[in-house]
Amino acid sequence: MIDLRSDTLTTPTSDMRAAMAKAEVGDDVYAEDPTTRRLEERVAELFGHEAALFTPTGSLANVLAVRSLVGVGQEVLCESSAHIARAELGAHGAITGLTMRTWSHHRGQIDLAAIDALFAPDMGSFFVRTTAVSVENTHNFAGGTVLPLTDLQALHAWAVPTRTKIHLDGARLWNAHVATGTPLHEYGAVADVLAVCLSKGLGAPVGSLMVGSADAIAEARIWRKRLGGGMRQTGILAAAGLHALDHHVERLADDHAHARLLAEACGLDPATVDTNIVVLPRTDAGAFVEAAAEAGVRISAVGPRAVRIVTHLDVSRADAKKAASILAKL
Ligand SMILES: *Cc1c(COP(=O)(O)O)cnc(C)c1O
Repeated sequence: MIDLRSDTLTTPTSDMRAAMAKAEVGDDVYAEDPTTRRLEERVAELFGHEAALFTPTGSLANVLAVRSLVGVGQEVLCESSAHIARAELGAHGAITGLTMRTWSHHRGQIDLAAIDALFAPDMGSFFVRTTAVSVENTHNFAGGTVLPLTDLQALHAWAVPTRTKIHLDGARLWNAHVATGTPLHEYGAVADVLAVCLSKGLGAPVGSLMVGSADAIAEARIWRKRLGGGMRQTGILAAAGLHALDHHVERLADDHAHARLLAEACGLDPATVDTNIVVLPRTDAGAFVEAAAEAGVRISAVGPRAVRIVTHLDVSRADAKKAASILAKL
């Protein structure tokens, strides 16, 4: 069975397991886990920010990151199919007490005119105030699409005079970096706070990070504990992340090539596939997913009219070619 449902399905390689087994550890709630601190310092530096915080999930990194910018009864603007709006089960409303308004773009892109039209400055006791804009790069539900750096820079230039903060959901920012060659610190420069995942394409079993200012991270450390995310000998997990940063970033280019190959086999223009996710329109999504599984390829339905195909570390070129020929036949 070739499993193309998600890049979260990867299991740690034997080299990664060896790195985990060797990790020097301590109690991270005491901030005494040396491997976790090393990972946090390294990731903060990669993005040109002061500090970072290891979290068990990307969803928690996003909740901590967005709440560092947006208070109770304030709002964050985001694209309508953003992960924070659709896939975090209302955590931002339930925990932070914020509201969201959205713009829509079929490729998950930044629409600065729409954002400007939605933007609500402080109007005292009359309207909800916009305090942040959240963007997602790459955009998951739009099909792994990349947000061009120039659009992020234009958003940042708009945000500074309006005193709006920017949250970047970079669960797959590594994929955008490899696909475009944009240095990570350039992405860091356009965001006040970021979240990145180690457990997607990078192949770590667990782990994400929030990245931001020293003050924001110090406060997030308190909120992480408050929400039950204070973990102890996390160096075992951080070691997997450090190993992934050393060995699994550049190879994302292979996943992107495999995704284009699969897209082409399914009759799509491979040029529309930016990274490792292919969204294929199918009016028979459920039946197509079943037929593919019977033929040896697992993919997932995203709603009744589309299926999603995701390439990752555990899918070799031979697997991708085999899956492509099976899907092409179907
Ligand atoms: C996967 C993902 C997250 C975080 O997901 P967790 O399962 O909570 O780690 C956040 N944003 C996007 C865009 C994602 O794809």
